[in-house]
This record gives sequence, C-alpha cells and structure tokens, in this order.
Amino acid sequence: MNQELSYHTIRTVNTYKVRSRFPRLVGKNAFRNEHAFGDEFVVKEIITDQGAKGWGLASGLFYHQDIREDDRLLNKKVSEVFDESIGILQEDLPTFDFALHDLAGNILGLPCFRMFGDRGVQSVPVYDTLIYFDDISPDTNPGGIARILEECQYGYDYGYRAFKLKIGRAPLWMSLEEGDKRDIEVTRAVREHFPDCEIMVDANDAYTVDRMKAYVDAVSDVGLYWIEEPFRENEKSFSLLREHLDKKSPKTLIADGETDPDMDLLIHLYQKGLLGVFQMDIQGDHSLGHAFGLTPWRRAMPRLESIGARISPHAWGLKLKTHYAAQFCAGYPGVSCVEGVTDTTEGVDFSGYQIRNGKMYLPEKPGFGMDFIWGMPITGEDCESKTICRQV
Ligand SMILES: [Mg+2]
Repeated sequence: MNQELSYHTIRTVNTYKVRSRFPRLVGKNAFRNEHAFGDEFVVKEIITDQGAKGWGLASGLFYHQDIREDDRLLNKKVSEVFDESIGILQEDLPTFDFALHDLAGNILGLPCFRMFGDRGVQSVPVYDTLIYFDDISPDTNPGGIARILEECQYGYDYGYRAFKLKIGRAPLWMSLEEGDKRDIEVTRAVREHFPDCEIMVDANDAYTVDRMKAYVDAVSDVGLYWIEEPFRENEKSFSLLREHLDKKSPKTLIADGETDPDMDLLIHLYQKGLLGVFQMDIQGDHSLGHAFGLTPWRRAMPRLESIGARISPHAWGLKLKTHYAAQFCAGYPGVSCVEGVTDTTEGVDFSGYQIRNGKMYLPEKPGFGMDFIWGMPITGEDCESKTICRQV
C-alpha cells in the first residue's frame, strides 16, 4: 500500500446523471427488443481534503442507486477503502470501484494501466460491438442485410477492423429455418465485404448444439475469430461444439462468461481447451445478471494468468466501459480483443484516446485519463427515500 493514499481523506462524494447516445438505433438481439438510441447512467465523483478528484461510472445501468452508500466513504482515508495493488477494499460497494481507481491514479500520478502492472499490450485491439439485428428492426422499417453492411462500414471508417455480429434471430424473431439462414447470410455478406477484418459472432445462448454445428458448417470458410455464448456454458455441449470446430474451423474460439459467471466452471472449461476467451463484465452491479466488476477481475487475474487465460472483459452498453476494459488489458496480460462501444457520451472528454486500424491507443495520463466535464447533479432530495430510480 502506498503511503500517499493515507494523506488524503474523502470529504465529498457527488452523484451525476450522464447521457450517452449511439450513432443510430441499435436493434434487437436474440433475447431483447430494440436497444434504443442510448442510455442514461450514474457517475460518482470523489474529492479529498487535499483537493484530489476521481470519477467513474457507478453501478447501475438499470437499477436503483442508493446514495446513502456515499456515507460509507465520507471522512475515510483513501487508504482505508482502496489499495492500488488490489482495488476497492469494500467489495460490497462496487459503485465506487472506477471512481476510486481514478482517484488513486490521480493521487499517485499513475495511469490505471500502470497501476495494473503495465504487462498487457500498448495498443489494445478493439472490435465493433454495435452490429445488432438491424436487418429486421425496427419492425416499421427493417433495413435488410444492406443496413448491416452500412453499419459495418461506419465502424470501419471509425477505425475498427473487427466486427461482432449478433446471431440467433430464431426462435424469438424468425422461424428456425429463416432465422438460421439469415444468420448465415449476414455472416457471409460481412466476410465478403470486409475481407481484411476479423469477425466474431454472439448468439446470446439462443442456439442448440445441432443448430450451431450446422451454422459452423455453413460458415467454415469465413474464419470466425470467436463464437460467443452459443448456448449456456456446460462441459458436454462445449465439448461437442469444440470437436466440431476442430474439424471445420479449428482456429475459431469459444468465448463466454458474461452472464452470471461461475469462475470455477469457466476455468475448468478453459483448462480442458473448450472455453477460449473469458468475458466477465468490467462493471460490478449485483442487480445485473452479467455483472462482475473491475476489482473482482483484478482479484481473479493471478488465477487466470497462471492458466494463460485469454481475456476480453465484457463492456457492452457504454463507451466508458470500453475504455475501462482497454486500460485493464493494457495493464494485465492475455487480451484477445476488447469490446468497442461507439457512442457520444455527454460531458466526458475522451480526447486522450484514439482508435486507429483496429487498435485503441491510451493516454499517458493519471487514472483513467478521461475528464469529466459536466453531468446533471443528483442529490438525495431529488428522489424519494434518497433512491434514484432509473427506467430500463
Ligand atoms: Mg455477448
């Protein structure tokens, strides 16, 4: 533990509402209707008696924020609630995880990727994760496969050189026959139009082993980089798919772990050669099925490093999460490719970061290297029972 953190006492915790906007309507996936045009989320800002500041995404894309939690930080030394070699010391307060990392980085004059050990990559591979079922949504004006190709072109021009395509149009949105056929057509069309890019697919657990094998047969020449959440992870199904991939598309990995992760099972699957990429979420939020968190990731890394794990922290939803995941993968070894969310986040200056030729370049700035300019202040008086209620 660094002594400097003990010279700072937390005097103020501010809470803000911030808006993010996608570049377009983001449509359906295998289990959820339109993902809309963006989101609103909560940010925490922490200020010490020495005037040091840190800020970060709070827990809660879709949940009720209880700002009474702020009291548990007030008048504490930073060293009482945070250790730069571990992360947050009160793991039941994940809402301050990013803000305390940022604060400690600012106090120590240390970019977070250096705090994490600086043993990852200097430029972080990123992929475009915004390609949803926009061929079939919105219902009033579905865009067809041409819309998906336009969206990939937008991502290409933005700087991505890898695309993750959602698959699993059946059974929720299309018949098995039509949906699986469309999944194949979309995959093949993107491969044809973007020959220099990697392609991943994500089924959000909507497939069965037999349907996935048929899909793999139909795209075996595409050279998929990974198949994500083909179905709920289990040893038997993963073995059957891995066996089939070894015959038809041997380099394709299986990626999983974003939903309700069971670390012992995931590590077992990795050691058996079945799981290829760990994808627990970079954000901690116990009200979300896909939550894991930054400090839990840091705590898991010694075990993951010892098995040579490939990693890609789940970052869906917010560009902020992509930047946190990129810092993580610049600090810790094992990155495969980081999930790149493209949005305009109001009130946040990301200008230290750049995406070029499929790689994200990080700033040599303390903390997470992003400046918080403005958010809508939220106080306890704004909400009944001092609880901030958010709409899904
Ligand atoms: Mg996913």
